[in-house]
Amino acid sequence: MDNKALFKIGYGLYVLSTNYENHDNGCIVNSVMQLTSNPLRIAVNVNKSNYTHDLIKDSCVFNLSMLTTETPMKVFEHFGFQSGRNVNKFEDCKEEHRTVNHVLYLPNFTNAFIACHVVETIDFGTHTMFIGEVLDAEVLSDKPSVTYDYYQTNIKPKPQPKAEKPANGKRRWVCKVCGYIYEGDELPDDFICPTCKHGKEDFEEIL
Ligand code: FE
Repeated sequence: MDNKALFKIGYGLYVLSTNYENHDNGCIVNSVMQLTSNPLRIAVNVNKSNYTHDLIKDSCVFNLSMLTTETPMKVFEHFGFQSGRNVNKFEDCKEEHRTVNHVLYLPNFTNAFIACHVVETIDFGTHTMFIGEVLDAEVLSDKPSVTYDYYQTNIKPKPQPKAEKPANGKRRWVCKVCGYIYEGDELPDDFICPTCKHGKEDFEEIL
């Protein structure tokens, strides 16, 4: 079996945000889909290691901000490569961008937002799927939505393949999501990228 077949699934990239007890937070997600039109429901799948996951479990509300192809790398770094446990990612956001569920959306580099409340959760072990009923939604621009493929090709900085092998003879693997480099004899099966929390399947060896 070739697990790379799963990379051929088309994904978008979104900022998933929430608010619990006046604490705002958000992260980058790719697994979003509309489930039904009547009632209007969507699903988002979130890794349990994300602080946003824990906050949504408590608050039962979330927003999705749909990122465009103009989104700079710094937005992905801001929401994806640091934890809301350490920084307030929404420090610079304005109250006017709070929707009916009291959750903020991202006004810039975003072509739409969807505001939801959680009607069901499904536990998938490493992830929780939150099923949300749509409370409000707005189109903000006509810029195209960014796909995961577009992000990989056009936004994410390329890892430096010419990086020489370390003198100690160790092997090196690069995280294809964020560029983090792991050095060692073997990449452990349970390795989780310390920067973006993706697993071994998202690493490739630098030869
Ligand atoms: Fe990473």
